[in-house]
Amino acid sequence: MSQKPSPLNVALSQLKLASDKLTLDDGLQKMLSHPKRSITVSMDIHLGDGSVGVFNGIRVQHWDARGPFKGGIRFYPDVSVGDVTALAMLMTWKCAIADIPFGGAKGGVCVDSKKLSKLELERLTRRYVSLMFEYLGPHRDIPAPDMYTDAQTMAWIMDTYSQLKGYRVPESVTGKPVEIGGSWGRIEATGRGVIHCVKQAATNNGLKLGGASVAIQGFGNVGYHAAVAAQEIGCKVVAVSDSTGGIYCPDGLNPQTVLAHKEQTGSIQNYQGCKNVTNQELLELQCDVLIPAALENQITSQNADKIKAKMVAEAANGPTTPEADRIFYEKEICLIPDILANSGGVTVSYFEWVQNLTREQWPLEVVNRKLEEKMTKAFNDVEAVVAREESDMRTGALMLGVGRVANAIKTLGLWP
Ligand code: NAD
Repeated sequence: MSQKPSPLNVALSQLKLASDKLTLDDGLQKMLSHPKRSITVSMDIHLGDGSVGVFNGIRVQHWDARGPFKGGIRFYPDVSVGDVTALAMLMTWKCAIADIPFGGAKGGVCVDSKKLSKLELERLTRRYVSLMFEYLGPHRDIPAPDMYTDAQTMAWIMDTYSQLKGYRVPESVTGKPVEIGGSWGRIEATGRGVIHCVKQAATNNGLKLGGASVAIQGFGNVGYHAAVAAQEIGCKVVAVSDSTGGIYCPDGLNPQTVLAHKEQTGSIQNYQGCKNVTNQELLELQCDVLIPAALENQITSQNADKIKAKMVAEAANGPTTPEADRIFYEKEICLIPDILANSGGVTVSYFEWVQNLTREQWPLEVVNRKLEEKMTKAFNDVEAVVAREESDMRTGALMLGVGRVANAIKTLGLWP
């Protein structure tokens, strides 16, 4: 029986692989395999019915050799310190690959956000910031949205941080609503960035994207905007899904009307003209491009062989296990790894931080143009390593990211 590997074990084995190939010394390998700081807090809040709820909060700060810690906060029922550490590590490599001056961090709150009211979620978010306050800040650690957190959550974070500081600090968090200092284009940036990578990979692999079929698992922020961006460049979105299941329509569906249907009925399924499919079936559908945009460990040794897509772009973090990676490599399926494919979000977060620090607001066209430039440069930097090392894309991306961070640490030195 094959068990799903823990995200932390996967992240550590990826680091080992990249470090060995880069011939990093033992000291550096040890330093990079340990986060600089892991904070866990117990958050007590008043619930709407008058009772007290106690929730666990986590923030892991992995490395900051290239700039302040940066990473999202996810609200998810069984989020663990190990999982958050793995995600923080991925953020460190991701920022280095995108060549933006940030380190890596991640946060988590163990909560089923669907079971809390908006007021309870606000209390929980503000409590998280108050307990983590001394470790956060625009030059220390800058949170952002992740699963089940959004622009509203970021507004509460900014307001709480600012209240505790005594003045407005918009640069303390990214992914905020535009009216309080958020960047145009941030909400759609991760999804758009995924499609920039797909475009670049298609160009390099001679795949025509006009009319190409795309299946997307996860229809949240990233999945939805990837669907819209795919449609914009002439692809046919044939399947999408959320936690309740998916829908398939070989002639193509319209993401905007599917979203309206989801908002009306609470689920994607039973959408007119489409066949209901399970999340597992969606992954195995006939399509050109598969975009997992929900959870980790979705493509494993159990189903990798059944995947028919020619290209898999990892919008989610860690959706493919190492065994599945090997199967894809043997089957010559082009896999664009998470640390490259979903770096559009943190790239526009960096633009937001720069705009906040300079008190400027760039027009959407400027943000989108800069995003495309950064994504294309990152993609080509990874491809150059892949060509030099004759490696798969994940190994190439890891070598680029780990190598840049290791160089920064070596240059800074150890003190005392
Ligand atoms: P989100 O909360 O907006 O959406 C998550 C989606 O996944 C929802 O549609 C939900 O219904 C679906 N989902 C949940 N459980 C599922 C299951 N068991 N099977 C299928 N679908 C399921 O989150 P998001 O911001 O879109 O993030 C999605 C992924 O992208 C995560 O892995 C996240 O770490 C990664 N990511 C997000 C960003 C960002 O900017 N938001 C940036 C980089 C990476």
